[in-house]
Amino acid sequence: MARRIVELLRTGQPDESVTIQGWVRTKREQKGFSFIEVNDGSSMAGLQVVINQDVPRYEETIKRLSTGASVEVSGVLVPSLGKGQRIEVKADSVSVFGEADPETYPLQKKRHSFEFLRDIGHLRSRTNTLGAVFRVRNACATAIHQFFQERGFLWVHTPILTASDCEGAGEMFAVTSLDLKQVPMTEQKGVDYSKDFFGKPTYLTVSGQLEAEIMAMAFSNVYTFGPTFRAENSNTSRHLAEFWMVEPEMAFCDLEGDMDLAEAFLKHIFQHVMDTCPEDMEFFNARIDNSVLATAENIIHNEFERLTYTDAIALLQKADKTFEYPVEWGLDLQSEHERYLAEDLFKKPTIVTDYPTQIKAFYMRLSDDEKTVRAMDILAPKIGEIIGGSQREERLDILERRIQQQGLDPADYWWYLDLRRYGTVPHAGFGLGFERLVQFMTGMGNIRDVIPFPRAPLSVEF
Ligand code: ATP
Ligand code: MN
Repeated sequence: MARRIVELLRTGQPDESVTIQGWVRTKREQKGFSFIEVNDGSSMAGLQVVINQDVPRYEETIKRLSTGASVEVSGVLVPSLGKGQRIEVKADSVSVFGEADPETYPLQKKRHSFEFLRDIGHLRSRTNTLGAVFRVRNACATAIHQFFQERGFLWVHTPILTASDCEGAGEMFAVTSLDLKQVPMTEQKGVDYSKDFFGKPTYLTVSGQLEAEIMAMAFSNVYTFGPTFRAENSNTSRHLAEFWMVEPEMAFCDLEGDMDLAEAFLKHIFQHVMDTCPEDMEFFNARIDNSVLATAENIIHNEFERLTYTDAIALLQKADKTFEYPVEWGLDLQSEHERYLAEDLFKKPTIVTDYPTQIKAFYMRLSDDEKTVRAMDILAPKIGEIIGGSQREERLDILERRIQQQGLDPADYWWYLDLRRYGTVPHAGFGLGFERLVQFMTGMGNIRDVIPFPRAPLSVEF
């Protein structure tokens, strides 16, 4: 059976007989022999293979081997004389599965721009950078499940199709099975949704939180980890139309417990990635952003800064820096403000709590003076908001009032309100944008390069 290259590079011993399978990254022909580097995606580094001219069908095989070709090599491991690798394979046989015509294969040895690579989304995962990104992304996902499972959280699957516009977030994708060429109309000339698949307007979910709350009221501690959709027409480097979100929800938990969990959570993920993907992380540090390793160390070893929104506003007003957007109690923090706090002032992840009631969602717990709600945002250097969370309003009368004040109809939230009627408890949770995390971890500038198949305005190929 073929062996994974990452394992052979770590533990392979001279004289071992091995078979490997993968794709050719480079080929060098010498007199009487050739070198190829084979990569199977299991690590950044490939395994060097020496093919001597006495290998069966040498001339023909070497001709077919070019960058991108798929191969199987059997041979023995030998100590490498060249620099850069401990061992290499001395081939006994080489078979080519598929060639890759060098005239047309788009991934040549030179460096390609990320924009160009997005246009060849079906091939870009074979590059060093995207390979490293998707290995780190996988490690982050593993760490997330590990963290929650070790603490007894249940992974719950919240729906992707929904009839509730979660927080009045707007920007939802409508889902319909109506024939758009012949839309049934009501007498008032509106769309007759009673004829649609679900009998009412339906959307792709923007968050699983409300349903996660239902599950937390039965299992105490739960989390969701699934796709989320927002039809935001903002062509930024931090927004996707389809992204993954992690949303833990804890019963019998207040905002302090929520912050403690979020901080331990981020530390755990960074530690796991540093332990399992050190070469990839070193690559990002060397080639993408030279603060990647220092940031990871910073997260793992330092306590996060915690301050209230009110204190944050005071600090921003004192800052010897001019901001584009105004700083005033009651206005939401803009990305430039968030970055000033986390990047320039505290130089580490910063948790801002207790935001003004008017700028936050109806389900956040109202404080006694009613001016603020028990919300918390975790701001990360370079990225800005990475986690948004809150203690939830568990008091029925206040929640009903807050829904009304935001112009929403309590009747639409009957089941959400029922949770406060039957066995209500203080509870809290947060949402982590998974791609924002991977972006932060790797230093990648554009969020479209940390998800295999990015969806953004006018972009849905592959
Ligand atoms: P932002 O102000 O950056 O648009 P938001 O306030 O809309 O974020 P939330 O509704 O709090 O975000 O969503 C929870 C988390 O999901 C955010 O903290 C962020 O990490 C992530 N997120 C939100 N929108 C997007 C998006 N369009 N693409 C990728 N991640 C997103
Ligand atoms: Mn947004």
